[in-house]
Amino acid sequence: MIQLFQPLNILGFAYREIKQGLTDMEAMFRLMREEREVADKPGAPALAVTQGEIRFEDVRFGYRPDRQILKGVSFTVPPGRTLAIVGPTGAGKSTISRLLFRFYDATSGRVAIDGQDVRDVTQDSVRHAIGVVPQDTVLFNDTIRYNIAYGRPGATQEEVENAARLAQVHDFVLRLPDGYDTKVGERGLKLSGGEKQRVAIARTLLKDPRLLILDEATSALDTRTEQDIQAALRDAARGRTTLVIAHRLSTVVDADEILVLQDGHVAERGSHAQLIAADGLYAAMWRRQSEAVAAAEAAAAAQAAA
Ligand code: ADP
Repeated sequence: MIQLFQPLNILGFAYREIKQGLTDMEAMFRLMREEREVADKPGAPALAVTQGEIRFEDVRFGYRPDRQILKGVSFTVPPGRTLAIVGPTGAGKSTISRLLFRFYDATSGRVAIDGQDVRDVTQDSVRHAIGVVPQDTVLFNDTIRYNIAYGRPGATQEEVENAARLAQVHDFVLRLPDGYDTKVGERGLKLSGGEKQRVAIARTLLKDPRLLILDEATSALDTRTEQDIQAALRDAARGRTTLVIAHRLSTVVDADEILVLQDGHVAERGSHAQLIAADGLYAAMWRRQSEAVAAAEAAAAAQAAA
């Protein structure tokens, strides 16, 4: 029996290895395709950020030709303002940020920064102009200083510390065994979701971009951490044109405009007060979320009392 199983096991192992190899190859080809898809035009100039206006004009896009994800999305974020995009999972919110960052090009329509189509300027210059605070920050296996300074290679210790202070992570770093020299990441000290996000905010503040994409975390942080991070994010957004991809609604109340995306269409738009008054999709989402928050708080209070 063992004799029979052995080769089967080896076969199974070989199959997994080959499959893994294929997956890697697929990933590589996908990457290459994407790289080609967003190649710079010959002699493309660098983006010249003047005011910092973001504009989407009737943008259509699908990852595959047979499935449209964005079906004609238009909006303008005036310089220094904040636009929040909300909507159900899969509506296409993150796709909008990927098009702005030019991971992909729109199938039709136009994505422009200060009137320049992002397809006509160099990819590097677009990415240089935009700071991203992602949902889930991946830290490098290096020191916390390196992880923050990555936002602007060559930054001085003083600049790193200032950014860390603004992101409310400086005091935390000082309490670590080796301060800014503490190794973090998978092979170093593991940071909590909230701490990682603050490192990402510090990194972005150091980069000091004119345009900001905040991809709000899906997973709930505890209320205190959440409030601290909201405050740090609000500071980071001040004076920058900001696109908030809101998976929850807590950050959107103060946005200058809210876009409700549903199935690749803009279903509603307006300020928080206007959308509540309109009593449509947004108002229903808001009610549901408020009820969920109230229920969670009641449960926490009951647990604390027990
Ligand atoms: P949201 O951020 O609103 O949850 P996304 O923009 O991430 O939505 O995704 C919109 C749709 O596009 C989803 O149906 C998702 O499955 C699909 N999608 C996202 N990324 C890819 C990808 N790289 N390839 C193919 N489909 C994708």
